[in-house]
Amino acid sequence: MVSSVADGAKLQPSRAGSRLCVRCGERKAALKRPKTLDQICRECFYIVFEDEIHQTIVDNSLFKAGERVAIGASGGKDSTVLAYVLSKLNRRHNYGLDLFLLSVDEGITGYRDDSLETVKRNEIQYGLPLKIVSYKDLYGWTMDDIVKAIGLKNNCTFCGVFRRQALDRGAALLKADKIVTGHNADDIAETVLLNILRGDIARLSRCTFITTGEDGPIPRCKPFKYTYEKEIVIYPFYETSHIFICIYSPNAYRGFAREFIKDLERMRPRAILDIIKSGENFRISTTTKMPEQGTCERCGYISSQRLCKACVLLDGLNRGLPKLGIGRTKAGDGKDRAKHSERNTSSLQGKHGNFDF
Ligand code: SF4
Ligand code: ZN
Repeated sequence: MVSSVADGAKLQPSRAGSRLCVRCGERKAALKRPKTLDQICRECFYIVFEDEIHQTIVDNSLFKAGERVAIGASGGKDSTVLAYVLSKLNRRHNYGLDLFLLSVDEGITGYRDDSLETVKRNEIQYGLPLKIVSYKDLYGWTMDDIVKAIGLKNNCTFCGVFRRQALDRGAALLKADKIVTGHNADDIAETVLLNILRGDIARLSRCTFITTGEDGPIPRCKPFKYTYEKEIVIYPFYETSHIFICIYSPNAYRGFAREFIKDLERMRPRAILDIIKSGENFRISTTTKMPEQGTCERCGYISSQRLCKACVLLDGLNRGLPKLGIGRTKAGDGKDRAKHSERNTSSLQGKHGNFDF
């Protein structure tokens, strides 16, 4: 399903009239920067937007020269802007990275086939090689098949678990050293809150890490960790004016954490950064038992259990018992549901297919 970007996602002109840009002091301010509320001209906005991402990459030593980096590309705004900005910074600052686009085809007719068209355009526009891995090839099931088998209740649980593993497998095929995803500051603040509300200590301790999975098959990092969603939306290189909405995303449920963060941001934009900071400052007591990482007996994927979550879910599907393995697990469920239902209701639409951590 495709719809056009809502009004709220467009550039908000500055109400400052003839006020000058606070950065250059020469041009007229054209907008109020969402992150700082500074009155700024367009040219300076693009510069600070890109410079802050470059600074995040440098400060956190995200990459080493010569690395092969797979950009998790969904066709949505975050990953589209990420692909554009990262290839630009790679050239401008000589990072020396080999960049690739990596997409997951869940097999959702009318949704993923459309968004993959955007990724294919990006492949040409940005000159980045594209690899697409599909659920059908990896697991023998498309999401369309899965929904036929299980209905619309737990579909996002299957999808989230399968997507995570599909990305790792695709990155391995590309011989990538790293995966980067378009998770932005709003996503991370939302995850901090959700993990607090759920009491999920294991995830709380790592959800603010800019790089995760260093002990797993391929580390993942988030160059947009401090980038505000509103700024990604107004950055001009998100050229497609379409957003893609999964036909299986639940409509009624609206992510509490997401809504709450938007409210806080309206009152005080810095709240998003402060929540991330609080998450970073959490110290986990050494008496808290953390799950031990091993590998799945069947497929070799990292797992804290005998079988990884994907193998358990697949087992259930193949045996005609799809409820098997749908327990208290949270992978891919709440976050995707919250994000995707937000897309259906918010004026800041466009959030799709971000890859769960
Ligand atoms: Fe998968 Fe997202 Fe669709 Fe759920 S809403 S089925 S997680 S693509
Ligand atoms: Zn497995």
